[in-house]
Amino acid sequence: VRDAVVVVGDGPAGTALAAACAGAGLAVTLLSPDPERAWHNTYGVWEDELPDQLRSAVAHRYAEPQVAFDAPFAGPGTRSLSRAYVVLDNTTLRDALLAEVRSGGRIVQGSAARAEADPDGTLVHTTDGRTLPAGVVVDATGHRPALAAAGTGRPPAWQVAAGIVARIDPSPVPAGGMWLMDWRAGPLIGEPDAPTVPTFLYAMDLGDGTVFVEETSLAARPAQAVTTLRRRLDRRLAAGGARVGTVHATEAVVFPMGGPLPPRRQRVVPYGAAAGMVHPATGYQVATALRRAPVVAAAVAQALAATDAEPAAVSAAAWDAVWPPDLVRQRALHRAGLEVLLRLGTADTQAFFAAFFALPEADWRAYLSGARCSRDLARVMVAVLRRLPPRLQARVALGTAAADPLALARGVLRA
Ligand SMILES: Cc1cc2nc3c(=O)[nH]c(=O)nc-3n(C[C@H](O)[C@H](O)[C@H](O)COP(=O)(O)OP(=O)(O)OC[C@H]3O[C@@H](n4cnc5c(N)ncnc54)[C@H](O)[C@@H]3O)c2cc1C
Repeated sequence: VRDAVVVVGDGPAGTALAAACAGAGLAVTLLSPDPERAWHNTYGVWEDELPDQLRSAVAHRYAEPQVAFDAPFAGPGTRSLSRAYVVLDNTTLRDALLAEVRSGGRIVQGSAARAEADPDGTLVHTTDGRTLPAGVVVDATGHRPALAAAGTGRPPAWQVAAGIVARIDPSPVPAGGMWLMDWRAGPLIGEPDAPTVPTFLYAMDLGDGTVFVEETSLAARPAQAVTTLRRRLDRRLAAGGARVGTVHATEAVVFPMGGPLPPRRQRVVPYGAAAGMVHPATGYQVATALRRAPVVAAAVAQALAATDAEPAAVSAAAWDAVWPPDLVRQRALHRAGLEVLLRLGTADTQAFFAAFFALPEADWRAYLSGARCSRDLARVMVAVLRRLPPRLQARVALGTAAADPLALARGVLRA
């Protein structure tokens, strides 16, 4: 029996897309190496990005996340953001999505080895010798795609972080609150490369006497070592006089961002990290994958329903829904932003983010969560530039333009 869609990979992106396909009335199979395996990453998203039907999948909510800078960069040093941020309850989220998958499809245990085009669609061959025929195959196997061809071009940058969930006394986080980004560099004095390698603290009060603290290298090429981040975390906590008690969990984050998009016209359609959907300048992706899934599923359903549906045309329609032209332009602008960040040392990174979060909320929100159009995004980038100290303005402007002049021109001129 041929499914309409086989989604390979059961991370947040693949599971969300399989759920949306089932919701769109498509016969869908979600291929999972281990359907019992939970998601272990700590996923945070802006509350307003969470689709309404998934609002219950929240473990912790922070009404006013805070950002902090050394005093010279931002008045008193800290700023409260009036945009709620939530940490997802992975079990609730995953269970809700899997229930939706089962409502119109099935979950099959297995790993994909390769895909093969056939006249009616695409075949997925599993590592244990089974074949799953589909109208269209989606590769959602993460940043090392198992089936989809990867793109070529400028290599990605890497986000790296080291975190712990622990009892820490005194707590480095305000009670009930969180640091979205604490860039204060004072505690890191003495660290090798402190002035040239910017890192920040991402931290939240979990409410049961424990906190989650994670030292993060937002983007670096080549990647920073996890051990560097862990050492910096320890130093930051020690500088605040914090005593770390029982450690309940640890997290090591290493993933690429801003690499080239996969080649556009291929039979297998990538989704999620496999499709380069991780925000090139922030590393966020989960909310995007949740929100875009129904759009992509609807496009697939429509393409499959066409009486003369050629498999290549169905794949092309799906791809166009994953990456419509204006989102490709926005991504190019984000990549230009990434290239700028990669060139800034610790002080300049602080100055940059102090200016960024001093923008009206609608503007920084557009940069982080998707602008109405690429021209709007370009306008926000120019607005940040205007707020930067003069010595940084030329550097950032030239860095952005040099990173990808064509993309910049397209982003500014076409909307
Ligand atoms: C520790 C960590 C924390 C992060 N925190 C955030 C965050 O707070 N917010 C945010 O938006 N983003 C975050 N990210 C970035 C990004 O959103 C995640 O990496 C996200 O998990 C990517 O989702 P995905 O579904 O595309 O891929 P993945 O989560 O990598 O899922 C891929 C799935 O494919 C399966 N698979 C692999 N190979 C095969 C195969 N051959 N056949 C079948 N299945 C296969 C894997 O088992 C896996 O389940 C984080 C990343 C990490 C590493």
